[in-house]
Amino acid sequence: QVKSTGRDAHSFFAADMHANYRQRLSLEHEFRQALSRQELELHYQPLVSISRQRITGMEALVRWRHPRHGLVAPTRFIHMAEDAGIIHEISRWVIETGCAQLANWRQDHPDLRLSTNLSARDFDHPELDLSISRALSRHGLTAGSLELEITERLLVENGERISLRMQGLRNLGVGIVIDDFGSGYSSLTHMQSCNITRLKIDRRFVQDIKPAGHHPVVSVLAGIARGFDVQLAAEGVEHKEQLHALESLGCDEMQGFLFSRPVDAEEATRILDEYRHPGLPGHLPPPALT
Ligand code: C2E
Ligand code: MG
Ligand code: MG
Ligand code: MG
Repeated sequence: QVKSTGRDAHSFFAADMHANYRQRLSLEHEFRQALSRQELELHYQPLVSISRQRITGMEALVRWRHPRHGLVAPTRFIHMAEDAGIIHEISRWVIETGCAQLANWRQDHPDLRLSTNLSARDFDHPELDLSISRALSRHGLTAGSLELEITERLLVENGERISLRMQGLRNLGVGIVIDDFGSGYSSLTHMQSCNITRLKIDRRFVQDIKPAGHHPVVSVLAGIARGFDVQLAAEGVEHKEQLHALESLGCDEMQGFLFSRPVDAEEATRILDEYRHPGLPGHLPPPALT
């Protein structure tokens, strides 16, 4: 898990909590510099298909390599970037960098997908569609190789506004994933009008899965996916019992520490190459050995 360490990390990040105006300004200033100094980094976490025993996708997760505070997790700076109005620049950078990496990987792994995360603010930007289609064509990628994740909570809070823009993205051919599914009590109306590709069950519900237990929430979420005829995925899978319970509920695509933590591009490439043939990263032995 990514954490900022060091003595001054606390006071540094206290800035966005106490919202002291001057501290906020210097944080924003520092963050703008981070963009120009190329201190942002993408890490990648594999998505695996249990039935196919393969890595089917990589999720790009942004980090800030801070010169003094070390590797900083996105939960600590995405909000600030949204408030400061610089989330568009980050998203554009994430999409461009992720697409370049995907094009590279697809030379050896032709079916691999990339998913990136968007925030609600991204949908305010008139050129979102354009910058996505440009990145795809610049790197010779089909739109179907990219999926955009948006957390359910954001969809609920901004449903009307976002679902219109989502139609435009769907028309491009990119996939739309509802992330953290189950956490925001999604309006079924929006789910229908957004033409969703995939639902990704929130980590919290996966963590609630206990051996030999009942999993009413997860099974309801799986039922919703079946009803809407969309694919089902789960995040935060850490134990085999969770894998088996999810599998029995019809969930095939999974992501979590059981398989791999998010890793840098170099390590992700190594993992992809190692699991080029059927077999899953992490604790699972290849099927021939089970
Ligand atoms: P998310 O998209 O739901 O990503 C999953 C988060 O869960 C990641 O945290 C990942 O490290 C963590 N995780 C994955 N597997 C496991 C597991 O088995 N157990 C546990 N305990 N945790 C697991 P991370 O990288 O800190 O990202 C946090 C959130 O920040 C993401 O949640 C996403 O909403 C947001 N985010 C990340 N990158 C971007 C980005 O480029 N743009 C935007 N707008 N948001 C981003
Ligand atoms: Mg995500
Ligand atoms: Mg997620
Ligand atoms: Mg999540």
